[in-house]
Amino acid sequence: MSFVAEFNQLPLDTLLERSLRTSSADVARALSAESRALADFATLLSPAAGAQLEELCRRSQTLTRQRFGKVIRLFAPLYLSNECINNCKYCGFSRDNPILRVTLSIDDVLRETRALKAQGFRNILLVSGEHPKFVSNNYLRDCVAAVHAEVPGVSLEVGPMETAEYQPLVAAGADGLVVYQETYDRAIYEDMHTAGPKRNFDWRLETPERAYAAGFRRLGIGALFGLADWRAEAFSVAAHAAYLLRHCWKAQVTVSLPRLRPCAGEFEPLTHLGDRELVQLICAFRLFLPDVGLVLSTREPAKLRNGLIPLGITLMSAGSHTEPGGYTGAGHDKLHLTERGRIVELAEGASEWAGRSTATGQFEIADDRSPEEIAALISSLGYEPVWKDWDAALVTR
Ligand code: SF4
Repeated sequence: MSFVAEFNQLPLDTLLERSLRTSSADVARALSAESRALADFATLLSPAAGAQLEELCRRSQTLTRQRFGKVIRLFAPLYLSNECINNCKYCGFSRDNPILRVTLSIDDVLRETRALKAQGFRNILLVSGEHPKFVSNNYLRDCVAAVHAEVPGVSLEVGPMETAEYQPLVAAGADGLVVYQETYDRAIYEDMHTAGPKRNFDWRLETPERAYAAGFRRLGIGALFGLADWRAEAFSVAAHAAYLLRHCWKAQVTVSLPRLRPCAGEFEPLTHLGDRELVQLICAFRLFLPDVGLVLSTREPAKLRNGLIPLGITLMSAGSHTEPGGYTGAGHDKLHLTERGRIVELAEGASEWAGRSTATGQFEIADDRSPEEIAALISSLGYEPVWKDWDAALVTR
């Protein structure tokens, strides 16, 4: 049985109702439980638990230190291409957005990789829009091989594939696969994804299982907060992570809790997850799933990131760019403008795009501090910044 069958049976409405009616005595019971069920997770996300946020933070911090030590692992996204055949209303790379696009050559990718390596990174997440013509499976395999020759930790966040298509990528050196469901609310998912293969909700939901079958040993999931009710999304992500821990037990599972950021297309969030609620969410995930890695990206502002480091986070990005070529300017000679998926010629000096030398980013980042600054901050908080990922730390390079 895949997670889709389990997901279809989740009592999300009941959990939501229960969460909103939780008493402080229920919270005390969930906090003192030896192990916790999804119903306890709902309790920890309740307004009543929100009133006890300091206690949640204290317990989350203790548990995180017990399971992971005082260590924060660092990674950087490397965008390969912002070409995409999907229309996702909330994403700057959507097919119909008129933006400057580029797909990096393997030499470009190496240039970007070496720039990140010089900053200290040994764990790189290759990110790409979904476009079979520009981002073919062979292209991705060659990118993975080139990057893996430079750094030991290579993960992918690209269009979902079949297991057999993933296998050459694993063989080339990729060990992690990240795929966010974006929203676990089927109706909102359908409304957000107006064109392209991403419209298939179930196929996307089963992606981590196909990736595991292909040999990936780090699986990352998450929801994009700002689309559906944040508690309902969290119940689904938590149930999904718990399922993967049970069924893909050789893999390390990470959860990301990204909030929507401004991007091309100027999509406005449909729902709001406040800072205080995000803290509660991170602590509740830690208490429900003590061994799951929790990821914090540069979508969040510096002050909040500083405060979250000691509370449950285990993995952070730093100094990120969300446009291909963002670290070195690689690929700027191949930039082109697309409108509704078609390349259009730019009249010299006649458009708002003339003179632009970088591709359009996926979204605006909120924390633009350098990796060096982030590493220094982590150290100043008494934590160790680690540039390699866990398995990869066994590789001498
Ligand atoms: S979210 Fe992914 S699939 Fe959707 S438009 Fe952006 S890059 Fe393409």
